[in-house]
Amino acid sequence: MTDRYAVIGNPIEQSKSPLIHTAFAQVTGQDIAYTKLLAPLGGFAAAVDVFRASGGRGMNVTAPFKLDAFAYATDLALSAQMAGAVNAMKFEGDRVLGENFDGVGLVRDVVHNLAFPVQGKRVLILGAGGATRGALLPLLAEQPAELVIVNRTVAKAQELAALAHQHQSGQVPVTGLGYEAVQGQFDVVLNASSSSLGAELPPLHPEVFAPGCLAYDLTYGKGLTPFLKLAQQAGVTRLADGVGMLAEQAAEAFAWWRGVRPYTAAVIATLTVPLV
Ligand code: NDP
Repeated sequence: MTDRYAVIGNPIEQSKSPLIHTAFAQVTGQDIAYTKLLAPLGGFAAAVDVFRASGGRGMNVTAPFKLDAFAYATDLALSAQMAGAVNAMKFEGDRVLGENFDGVGLVRDVVHNLAFPVQGKRVLILGAGGATRGALLPLLAEQPAELVIVNRTVAKAQELAALAHQHQSGQVPVTGLGYEAVQGQFDVVLNASSSSLGAELPPLHPEVFAPGCLAYDLTYGKGLTPFLKLAQQAGVTRLADGVGMLAEQAAEAFAWWRGVRPYTAAVIATLTVPLV
């Protein structure tokens, strides 16, 4: 029997999830149907109730419903608790399991796909929203030398630094700063702010990029964003956007639902927009 899955959001037309999961199902031989579900604002729970009642097995969750999904889930994984948001759900009878695979997807893309180890590196992450929150534990698990969170609203960066200290078992120093307070150079600079969605440049000093560093914009499909352009002009040659993160978080969800982890290379190649 064909098992049904969906991605829920508003808007939803732009979502690549059906394309990704359908490709994963084909290469792994899984019998699934994966659709897009547009829910009205304020109508998340009702839409998910209907999908579950009609036999749906799981869902991906995109903007603006990740917090609604967090509230809807009956069982939250640590990743979801840390992120304060749910981006994947699995339905098991009355139970709704909530996960957040964004952070693990980011780290897998950087360390595995881009072959850029984070261990022992100085890492700077821009933004203190849901994406940064979710990335904290997976990043710290890689044992960087240091993690600096920088945000326009400094208090939010400081809050996330404190959260990271509460949850990590290792001793990685984590600091939350405003842009003007960032000092020194970093081996990995991750733009987890939403600045690139509006083609804006975060107020980042170009001297933060260390020689040989990786500049990674979590936003995807926008080509050379102002952040990546800043890095390129500063001499950075390792530039990447978040298309690999998107594919990797999807692969994590697929493996969680179906028990088989698909290779992501073909999907990444299909969705990649050149960084020009
Ligand atoms: P949030 O809305 O939770 O947080 C946005 C953050 O960006 C805030 O810290 C905000 O700062 C900061 N910000 C917004 N505009 C600017 C700007 N012009 N200059 C500097 N900082 C800015 O968003 P998310 O954390 O959910 O997502 C962040 C980005 O990551 C998005 O672009 C999203 O598309 C991308 N993403 C990619 C994924 C992937 O699979 N590749 C998965 C998840 C997210 P302040 O607090 O001061 O307002």
